[in-house]
Amino acid sequence: MQSAMHPIAVSKTALRCHHCGREVGETVHTRSLYRVDYYALHTGEVEPITLPRTDESAPPITALKLLNANQIVTCTDCYRQPGVRQERESLFRPELTAAIEQDAAS
Ligand SMILES: [Zn+2]
Repeated sequence: MQSAMHPIAVSKTALRCHHCGREVGETVHTRSLYRVDYYALHTGEVEPITLPRTDESAPPITALKLLNANQIVTCTDCYRQPGVRQERESLFRPELTAAIEQDAAS
């Protein structure tokens, strides 16, 4: 949709680094360069839910319900720091743990 009264550029929300708060740029492509300014990690709170099956002799299905999704943005400066990577892993761990438990139960 095009409109002279509403330029596209103004409504764009800038991404900020989750760790240091600096604004991160979009990934830049040029003829000779591919520059990434940030890494995005998708995480969120999950809750295991049990789905009953129609066949009562079969074990119930356990699935993970995503309660609320978060996007963790890490700028390239912070990404080099070991502490930041640990924080990212700890943010991601609830999902991983739940996935492992689900595998063991099936
Ligand atoms: Zn940062």
